[in-house]
Amino acid sequence: MDLDDTPEQAAHRAKVRAWLEENKPQAPVLTGPDALTDEDEIVAARRAWQGKLAEAGLAGVTWPKEFGGQGLGPIEQVICNQEIAKAGVPGILDAIGVGMLGPTIIAHGSDEQKGRYLGPMLHGDEVWCQLFSEPAAGSDLAAVQTRARQAQDGTWRLSGQKVWTTNAQFSSYGLLLARTDADVPKHKGLTMFIVPMDAPGVTVRGLRQISGEAEFNEVFFDDVELAADATVGGVGNGWGTALTTLMFERVTIGLGGEGLGYNSVRFAKGIASDEHARRDSEVRKQLGEIASELLAVRFTGYRTLTALQRGQIPGPEAGLAKVTIVNGAIKAGELIADVQGPDALGTSSEWAYMISFLPGLKSAGGTEEILRNTIGERVLGLPPEPRLDKGIPFSELRSKEGAAA
Ligand SMILES: Cc1cc2nc3c(=O)[nH]c(=O)nc-3n(C[C@H](O)[C@H](O)[C@H](O)COP(=O)(O)OP(=O)(O)OC[C@H]3O[C@@H](n4cnc5c(N)ncnc54)[C@H](O)[C@@H]3O)c2cc1C
Repeated sequence: MDLDDTPEQAAHRAKVRAWLEENKPQAPVLTGPDALTDEDEIVAARRAWQGKLAEAGLAGVTWPKEFGGQGLGPIEQVICNQEIAKAGVPGILDAIGVGMLGPTIIAHGSDEQKGRYLGPMLHGDEVWCQLFSEPAAGSDLAAVQTRARQAQDGTWRLSGQKVWTTNAQFSSYGLLLARTDADVPKHKGLTMFIVPMDAPGVTVRGLRQISGEAEFNEVFFDDVELAADATVGGVGNGWGTALTTLMFERVTIGLGGEGLGYNSVRFAKGIASDEHARRDSEVRKQLGEIASELLAVRFTGYRTLTALQRGQIPGPEAGLAKVTIVNGAIKAGELIADVQGPDALGTSSEWAYMISFLPGLKSAGGTEEILRNTIGERVLGLPPEPRLDKGIPFSELRSKEGAAA
């Protein structure tokens, strides 16, 4: 493929760059001495910034125009991500909503749902969260136990618990996967719902991470009433709807712009600040290894882009990008900590957050073992994992989730 911008892409890039140059002073400041510190202020500033990016056409680039997007291709989205990263300003706050949940509603939602929810989501007026994972359903997502039962009048009652829900503490809505029929095999009895986070019976409790932040939460649902039309994609079709979200999750991570901000130039600058390390051949060798891994991810990413540009769905090999980026960044964090010593973890260090957050990222968006299993089975054609629960009604599974259902 030709890696240079076409004349149209170059024009798009110039437009994006010019807008960012002009509007950069209004971007929220998240690092350095002037950084905002109060969480409410950060969220408010980032929501307002998302609104500005959306108005300028720099958010939801691939969304259809009728829902406020630009109707452009994934390359144009990547160009925006690259320029935002280069300008050193934050991207949109609600990457989960705009990158994964909005596209799921566009693919499976009703016209009413699209008309009601997509605009405020894109502009940051209503933030969304992904209510999928549970204490006993993470990698094995189809094992969710949160139950939704339909009453005679068509309304639903929802009970259960979700966990690791990013942004739930300030979300207006969540897209939630629930079990609506326990008497069929586990992938078949699931349904997707839109849940207002301020509904009576919803409780959000923050989970504090080692980095000090509490970015995700446990969310409890105690007999929450949902309207009859809260389902997305049809009753019993929740697994197919969830797969759409997970496919967009893979693409969002893959197109996150230059390795989720973990790039070798940034790492090299961190290391080069130390005169001795800059000349140390072992440090240089290790940095070189990390840089070549990240370069390989970049070129694999171009393959994903080519598939998307041709209207194809990227294959499971795209999941390897996340594994490689996270492992490369962990190695870089260790190298920087070796070079800088305890200062690397100090409150004023730009590396402290990355170093403490990365171990969590090993799980987010699919764990390394699961992603490698998928590559083994679907790319390399290795024998599949034994699946003892195949074809058995969820309520008859001899596991703790089956017993509880
Ligand atoms: C930063 C972060 C943000 C997140 N945000 C969200 C969010 O917004 N919404 C949401 O719904 N979820 C979210 N998650 C949850 C995430 O999707 C789960 O952590 C992930 O699916 C793994 O599930 P688990 O944590 O329950 O681990 P488990 O599935 O319990 O896995 C535990 C360990 O066992 C291994 N393992 C499990 N099954 C197998 C197998 N078959 N073969 C080999 N090894 C296996 C795993 O690889 C892992 O090492 C987030 C997680 C993180 C870390």
